[in-house]
Amino acid sequence: MVWSDLSLPDPEPLKSEMNREVGKLIGKLTGKKADLVHPDIVFILDLSGDVVELKVHPVFVAGRYMKYERGIPQTHWDCRECRGAGCEKCDFTGKQYMDSVEELIGRPAAEALGGSWAVLHGSGREDIDARMIGTGRPFVLEIESPRKRSMDLAALEALINESAQGRVSVTLSRWCGRDDVETIKSNKAHKKYRILVEVDGTVTVEGLSIALSAISGVTIFQRTPERVAHRRADKVRERRVLDIEYIGTEEGRYVIEVTGEAGLYIKELVSGDNGRTHPSLTEVLGMPARVVTLDVVQVEGTEEVKEDGTSQRPTKENTV
Ligand SMILES: [Zn+2]
Repeated sequence: MVWSDLSLPDPEPLKSEMNREVGKLIGKLTGKKADLVHPDIVFILDLSGDVVELKVHPVFVAGRYMKYERGIPQTHWDCRECRGAGCEKCDFTGKQYMDSVEELIGRPAAEALGGSWAVLHGSGREDIDARMIGTGRPFVLEIESPRKRSMDLAALEALINESAQGRVSVTLSRWCGRDDVETIKSNKAHKKYRILVEVDGTVTVEGLSIALSAISGVTIFQRTPERVAHRRADKVRERRVLDIEYIGTEEGRYVIEVTGEAGLYIKELVSGDNGRTHPSLTEVLGMPARVVTLDVVQVEGTEEVKEDGTSQRPTKENTV
């Protein structure tokens, strides 16, 4: 109405004038230039209430993590009993597990940048009882409300590694943005595992090798495992075993390396999960087999995935 009543030749919405003028004023006060497209912080001016609200955008850093200790979940879990509120069962911490990879990496990083907390976005996740060694797993760490928006990456890496005391370690590659979270979470690259397998019965190395070759290169049908059925939809997944080979024997147990498509359940590939996974090592051996320990030794990152979807597998020397 104002525009048309006054026949203004070059009217401008109040909001853009505010943005520009407030930006100029803050620029004068701080010596910083206002970036209206990709701001680090945003002020919300509530003119009617005479209130200014400040929003600090998170910073993101990309890297790979190693997990050397079993029993640490990737991200923090709320206590099952109280759902995070704090109760006797969790000693009023609200947590199911005392530490997570997220907290071991995120706590020192958030502290170093003056942030409030940090969220870990992993390229997939390993089981709590599995180690993550070898190449490490790609991740993006999101640090909330940081007071500092950058620091020397090597210094941050050293800080995190010192704080994690050898339970977890990281290599940081670069500062990145929210877009990288999506990229890293949609990474469907192959994974390689080293497992220690126990067999109920007598099997020769030759017999085991024959059984392994029967499931190598084969598509496995896996109904949602019993152990995750409470949090995953019950359906049958098809995933290929790209390679599986016998490495050696340790105290009557067998060391085996498996490379599989993303989403292949390794414990069930071995145990058969009471027939829910087919074929399985238990099935082709004709005797019950189970995974005693599991280590993830290789997770390919998007940097190794070519545009046509195939991937360059690192050579043996690069892995464990
Ligand atoms: Zn609790």
